[in-house]
Amino acid sequence: MAGYTPMMEQYLSVKAGATDAILFYRLGDFYEMFFDDALTASRELEITLTGRGAGQEERIPMCGVPYHAAEGYIAKLIDKGYKVAIAEQVEDPATAKGVVRREIVRIVTPGTVMDSRTLGDGSNNFIVGAAIAEGRYGVAACDLTTGELYVTSFPATGEAVKNVLNVYRPAEAVGDDRAITLIIDALKPINRAIVTTVRESSDSAPLAEQFPDEQWSRHETVRRQAVAHLIAYLNETQKRSLTHIRAIKAYDSEAFMSLDAFTRRNLELTETVRDRTRKGTLISLLDRTRTAMGARLLKRWIDQPLLDKQQLDRRLDAVEALHQDWLQRKELRDELGEVYDLERLTGRIAYGTANGRDLNALKTSLQRVPSIQSLCHNLNAGPLTNLADQMDACQDLANAIELAIADEPPANIRDGGLIRPGYDAKLDALRDASQNGKQWIAELERQEREATGIKSLKIGFNKVFGYYLEVTRSNLGSLPEGRYERKQTLANAERYVTPELKEKEALILEAEERMVDLEYDIFLKLREQIGGQMARLQRLAESLAALDVLQSFAEASAERRYTRPSWTDGDNYDLTIEDGRHPVVESVNENGVFIANDSQLTRAEGSILLITGPNMAGKSTYMRQVAMICLMAQIGCFVPARRAVLPFIDRIFTRIGAADDLVGGQSTFMVEMKDIQVMTEQATERSLIIIDELGRGTSTDEGMAIAQSVIEYVHDHIRCKALVSTHFHELAHLENSLPGLRNGCMAVKESAEGVTFLRKLVPGAADSSYGIYCAQLAGLPETIVSRAYGLLQESGSLTAREAAVTREQGASYAPTPSSVLSPTSTPVLPPAIEPPASSPNGVFQLSMFAEP
Ligand code: ADP
Repeated sequence: MAGYTPMMEQYLSVKAGATDAILFYRLGDFYEMFFDDALTASRELEITLTGRGAGQEERIPMCGVPYHAAEGYIAKLIDKGYKVAIAEQVEDPATAKGVVRREIVRIVTPGTVMDSRTLGDGSNNFIVGAAIAEGRYGVAACDLTTGELYVTSFPATGEAVKNVLNVYRPAEAVGDDRAITLIIDALKPINRAIVTTVRESSDSAPLAEQFPDEQWSRHETVRRQAVAHLIAYLNETQKRSLTHIRAIKAYDSEAFMSLDAFTRRNLELTETVRDRTRKGTLISLLDRTRTAMGARLLKRWIDQPLLDKQQLDRRLDAVEALHQDWLQRKELRDELGEVYDLERLTGRIAYGTANGRDLNALKTSLQRVPSIQSLCHNLNAGPLTNLADQMDACQDLANAIELAIADEPPANIRDGGLIRPGYDAKLDALRDASQNGKQWIAELERQEREATGIKSLKIGFNKVFGYYLEVTRSNLGSLPEGRYERKQTLANAERYVTPELKEKEALILEAEERMVDLEYDIFLKLREQIGGQMARLQRLAESLAALDVLQSFAEASAERRYTRPSWTDGDNYDLTIEDGRHPVVESVNENGVFIANDSQLTRAEGSILLITGPNMAGKSTYMRQVAMICLMAQIGCFVPARRAVLPFIDRIFTRIGAADDLVGGQSTFMVEMKDIQVMTEQATERSLIIIDELGRGTSTDEGMAIAQSVIEYVHDHIRCKALVSTHFHELAHLENSLPGLRNGCMAVKESAEGVTFLRKLVPGAADSSYGIYCAQLAGLPETIVSRAYGLLQESGSLTAREAAVTREQGASYAPTPSSVLSPTSTPVLPPAIEPPASSPNGVFQLSMFAEP
């Protein structure tokens, strides 16, 4: 450091404490950045890069932002994946000897942002701590804004890591070297990068301090390590006590239905495959929550479907009661609409950033709780009664705030005007003193006007001169000599003071200064008092969030005509759905009809359904709808079906579509095979497997061979429920050799005018893919289309029906695409469907499970 100025030397030593962050170094009204930080920040923030002498020959790069606008700049850097360390002056420049002492007061990182404007209310911002030991992987996920901390562990495989990361979608991860490497590897194929930091902590003191009541012997070592790494990192970056992180919610991942990353995305639970938005996802349909805490919990519930009957029945009982009584539900929704984000409010209280308005928001929220409790009681359902009984309404805290805090406090807690009159005798006395002083001044103004006869004489106040008498230039002649002392000359007026006025001014200003200080003290005391009740508030927030999600399920179910599912008895894992619908496709089908379909995957009837049929017929919609219905039931929601009797599904595997498989640089076929490998390894008898177009992406012979052997394996070894679609009609013969497999296909009405997709699942195998027909619809030149039909005819693959039409029309079978079918049109149901001669499997029967 030789040769630097003392300030630069200080800068460099502060910077040594945050080498992986951009250092915002406070200099007066600016945060300055130097050296590489300045280069990076000026580029990323598009601010001017300058230079500064630092005691050496060359000037050093520098840039800066005004301190009052810093938040926006910090947010921008965080968004781009940087960490920002903030160094403040920690002693009074007026009394400091030499360079004012500066210290890092906080390091803001993507996982520790506290500013809810940057975060959005409806989602959590998680940071995870991770550890590996003895083949096990531990994860601790914390949302600093709410104080939630979840801990779990599982075998240390990339697959499992990916799955748990998908639940939390953390912005940042910290942990031991191997654990972080596994995270980076797991995120690569899904093209999501997060900020990672290798930090280990084997020190148990911070843990004991953070969780004084926790019995660590209860937890697996790897879990404790994950928490230790996380807490050490939080201490290092936040540099303050984290009193709101107290409760550790430990769970085993086996407690929830397991959903791999692709399945979550393919089913479009919380974001769409195409553009990762919320519109058109399951959560967008089910989210009728009224609070931000409810919205966040809803996402958790969707991400972690349950396996436990009792827990699910409790949720469903509550939803049913709320579903039936729309009036109480409406009132409850109104009340919840008045409840603010208690979790983030308590987070701000713990952080010491809550202001008077936050406390009032807490108060008004708490004041809704008694009526929320009584509405729950009125609904007369066990789980809701329990929920209400569990709620501690914290009215003592509401009252304490009500008594102390003014109705409309200012945003800044150092501005005064926070505390209600009558709350504190000393404050009232000071207020009186200032009030009296002001009255005395008003009286003085009246007297002086009278004495001088100057009607426009007035007493004013400014920060530089304090109180003064102002007389306009034209009236100066009427002023008595010697009584006033001139203070300031303006263009057309003079300002004066008198010794009496100065005396009163001193009294008023002192009273006001003391008032502001006293108000600030009173406020801090109250905030601390409430901070001491953090655990009660957090528990209440949790109950309110759960209630909000339950009413949201009830509201969505009522709006969308969902019904309560029931569970299969015993352990035969049968699944029966009558008139099931796909919740999302149904909701976006603007011009109306969604064709409901039955599903039956049972021991007796067969638990594998092999679906053939043309593109666009509705196969994948049908298969997904079965998965969606199972999943909705297992989060405790009603389902889109006339009746559903369901088993508890332990895992859903899907292999659908290729939209974004290619990011990882693997071929579609390779990705499919890997997924299938995972499936063969992990699926159990209680799993649901969905494979769309099994065996595509390689040669026909190989594809078909692999498809057949996979199906046989599922049938003979896994014996779970499976929905498989394929364009290899030849595989239909499997129905003869595999007793647990049935063929099904999407009914199609074919005529000389065109093909109508009926979107109805019927037994049997399709006899045509209508691939050429689809090509024709897509507008391929007629020569290509006729040639294709010609080739098909030569190879003898034309269906009898196609052949018949081809004969009728001469060489070219070219039904004009009519309004009956276009890739986007809704199906048109013909009045009656006549079974064509070419349909040995009874393709045109209306329903697979129709009454005989
Ligand atoms: P496939 O997988 O057979 O190619 P999809 O399942 O993708 O067909 O369905 C194609 C389109 O048909 C969907 O986008 C949807 O709009 C419509 N569709 C599918 N099933 C139904 C149904 N049961 N009722 C109404 N429209 C449907």
